[in-house]
Amino acid sequence: MNAPAPTLTDLVTGPVLEGDDPRVAAEVAGFNTAHTPRPALVVGATCAADVAVAVRWATAHGLRVSVQSTGHGLTSDLAGSVLVTTRRMSGVVVDPVSRSARVGAGVRWAQVIEAAAPFGLAPLSGSSSAVGVVGYTLGGGLGPLARRYGFAADHVRSVQLVTATGEVRHVDAIGDPELFWALRGGKGNFGIVTEIEFGLVPVATLYGGGIFFPGAAAADVLHAYRTWVDTLPEETTTSVALLRLPPLPELPEPLRGQFVVHLRVAHLGTADEGAALLAPMRAVAAPLMDLVAEMPFAAVDSIHMDPTEPMPVWDRGATLRELPAEAVDALLAVAGPDVQVPLIMVEVRHLGGAVGRPARVPSAVAGRDAAFSLLAVGPMAGPLAETMPSITQAVVDRMAPWAGRGALLNFLGQAGPERVAALWDDADRARLLAVRRALDPDRVFSPGQALPG
Ligand SMILES: Cc1cc2nc3c(=O)[nH]c(=O)nc-3n(C[C@H](O)[C@H](O)[C@H](O)COP(=O)(O)OP(=O)(O)OC[C@H]3O[C@@H](n4cnc5c(N)ncnc54)[C@H](O)[C@@H]3O)c2cc1C
Repeated sequence: MNAPAPTLTDLVTGPVLEGDDPRVAAEVAGFNTAHTPRPALVVGATCAADVAVAVRWATAHGLRVSVQSTGHGLTSDLAGSVLVTTRRMSGVVVDPVSRSARVGAGVRWAQVIEAAAPFGLAPLSGSSSAVGVVGYTLGGGLGPLARRYGFAADHVRSVQLVTATGEVRHVDAIGDPELFWALRGGKGNFGIVTEIEFGLVPVATLYGGGIFFPGAAAADVLHAYRTWVDTLPEETTTSVALLRLPPLPELPEPLRGQFVVHLRVAHLGTADEGAALLAPMRAVAAPLMDLVAEMPFAAVDSIHMDPTEPMPVWDRGATLRELPAEAVDALLAVAGPDVQVPLIMVEVRHLGGAVGRPARVPSAVAGRDAAFSLLAVGPMAGPLAETMPSITQAVVDRMAPWAGRGALLNFLGQAGPERVAALWDDADRARLLAVRRALDPDRVFSPGQALPG
């Protein structure tokens, strides 16, 4: 008598969940609660072999494959796909000699920061250490050290990738330069990354934090900011955000329920040097709170103070070629303190420096030539869920006269394939599509931001 054919559960080490199994909701819960993932099946992968089996099983059953780590970049309900969750792939190995880290697909930045700090090293993480390493890095990855060290993707040394055929591949600049180029900036379009190795930088402390100005000073702060950034060295990375803060008791009293302007600063240098650079901004208006001081890199989240609790959000980004006075006026007209608009945040991040130069090993990161990145974020709940896409789009549209090409991929927000493809010039778009078509001709993978065709 023949033994019954093994089921998917028999073939993978991690859990296989489907249907109305109550564990599905906990398995797919992520940061952005605007979307409730409804995959056909979830594989809680523990290793590359689990991912490979899940991909082969999905293709054998004519299903697409999606992947989720933290849900910070969740842009759809992933309906009908085989969803690979990666949180069990949580290994972190830091090598202080080669100044590098090798981490599993489910690792968040906080784990790398903690593991690297004892060696006086830091990763090119972003504004929130709760974000996943892989999704962030494949999308470029712009953080508080960006002007000095560039995008996180620029520091990737190798990647372990499960392809559409279920093959586990080591990808680096020597063995597979074209795929290595495409992966670093083209995000999840080429397969599922199961492990990533990247360089760390020698940063133990910095002069950084945030200054909160009252809404009444918004015009003065933004106009001062746009000229101040031209005076900054590459060691200084900054951004400024218009925040409409909720009246939550956990917020400090001066900020609770207020419209505030949040200047964020990360300076790699001494406190004296940093304070001298910051002096012109400190002189613009009396702050509600000034939290800029010398700090360990491990406290990097205190610069942006991003929310950490899951919330329903919609975001839309753009890049700007320049920020002249008229652009600041336009931004204030659409999102400033005198406008009644239910946005949570409109943020302008200063680019340039190492961000503006090609990576040592060229990558597909789009948006390098921009001077600023713009991001509008709003709540995607209740009646606002209907209007938030057009409210955030209106911010981007108002800034169109100064816009660059598209957005940084990590800040694009939910977008169809044509909009994703428009981030690259014709030559790079053709290269990316060629890699994708060679590697995944049947479009097995269904990433958050998918390339067309
Ligand atoms: C609060 C907050 C702060 C942020 N700050 C920054 C910032 O400072 N700088 C910045 O550049 N971005 C920032 N982002 C954007 C963030 O980098 C992207 O949303 C990123 O995609 C999140 O990755 P994740 O794995 O955490 O999220 P997930 O939602 O789990 O994944 C999002 C997408 O990443 C891809 N992906 C994830 N894992 C894999 C994998 N193993 N293999 C292949 N593809 C994979 C897939 O396309 C997936 O759809 C922020 C987002 C939030 C919500």
